[in-house]
Amino acid sequence: MDKILEKLKQELPGVEGNVVLKNYTTYKIGGPAKYFFVVKTTEDLIKAIKAVKQFKLPYFILGGGSNLLISDKGFKGIVIKIDILGVELAGTKLIVGAGEKLAKLSYCAADVGLSGLEWSTGIPGAAIGGSIYGHAQGFGTKISSVVESVWALDSHNLKLKNYTNKECQFSLKNSIFKKNKKLIIVSAVLNFKKDDPEEIKKKIKEFLDYRRLHHPIKFPSPGSTFVNPEKKITNKKLLEKYPELKDFNEKGIIPAGYLIAKCGLTGKKIGNAQISEKHSNFISNVGGAKAKDVLALIKLAKEKVKKNFGILLELEVQLVGM
Ligand SMILES: Cc1cc2nc3c(=O)[nH]c(=O)nc-3n(C[C@H](O)[C@H](O)[C@H](O)COP(=O)(O)OP(=O)(O)OC[C@H]3O[C@@H](n4cnc5c(N)ncnc54)[C@H](O)[C@@H]3O)c2cc1C
Repeated sequence: MDKILEKLKQELPGVEGNVVLKNYTTYKIGGPAKYFFVVKTTEDLIKAIKAVKQFKLPYFILGGGSNLLISDKGFKGIVIKIDILGVELAGTKLIVGAGEKLAKLSYCAADVGLSGLEWSTGIPGAAIGGSIYGHAQGFGTKISSVVESVWALDSHNLKLKNYTNKECQFSLKNSIFKKNKKLIIVSAVLNFKKDDPEEIKKKIKEFLDYRRLHHPIKFPSPGSTFVNPEKKITNKKLLEKYPELKDFNEKGIIPAGYLIAKCGLTGKKIGNAQISEKHSNFISNVGGAKAKDVLALIKLAKEKVKKNFGILLELEVQLVGM
């Protein structure tokens, strides 16, 4: 009998032990969480953090689970799943709970003629909290373009604070919430542009069609493995061998998938993990893949890209329990 679990149950009704995490991720990879608790309100979250302190437990904040690679051994602490819901319309703004899904919000916004999240349809599972944390973006639009402010709980002092867009410190796939893990997002105010609902829905359809055509959505994945580096390649030999690098240099960003493909790794398989043949920045779970297989492919891709292009790829997918 797990004594901590028994005590946790008194503090956090509904807390569970030994919950298999792969069922909570788009990757379908990951061992068990020692403890697992779903929070529906800010008060629940405060209770959970108080319990974390009382029992000195490591904790991990889970959103929609669409950007995670969780260890095969799982997580030896408490996973706190943010399921704080609610959408309130106020003029051109939506006030949303951190657990609300991006895709749902983009359709809600489209219905009332609000434009700004069309790019996010077709991302399975992503919630607003996780998307602000990692500064999600697509098709040239960043989530920061609609974020007016964010409410977050400071797990050290249990105080809530409102962060303006500027205070969120958004940068490439980064934010103050990623830099400062003690902050837990509970809600956000999103501000949109007015547009014709039919035009917005047309854009949504175009983005969805593009994703269906170009992304390997048939297999579980967490989307892109690496951040597209904001780098320029000046090496003359490389520019001669790969003339398209000049275009990337002009844009100031090189697709990580391009670099991986040029290293000859497209389709490379380790165990049941595979660098996608459709998009080389995706590592697909082609059936029962283990985290260790994915990690081996990540290592290989990083080594080859560094060797061939001198660029150190940065992980976009978040590693948990390792
Ligand atoms: C098929 C596919 C396509 C994708 N396409 C894109 C794309 O076009 N653009 C893009 O940017 N991403 C894309 N992604 C990646 C992913 O969907 C995004 O990164 C998403 O924003 C992650 O949100 P989440 O809620 O799933 O976060 P999770 O995966 O649950 O968590 C990610 C990180 O955020 C932290 N976190 C989660 N919630 C909170 C919170 N409330 N407070 C503080 N920290 C929190 C977690 O601790 C973790 O470190 C794609 C994924 C898939 C599977």
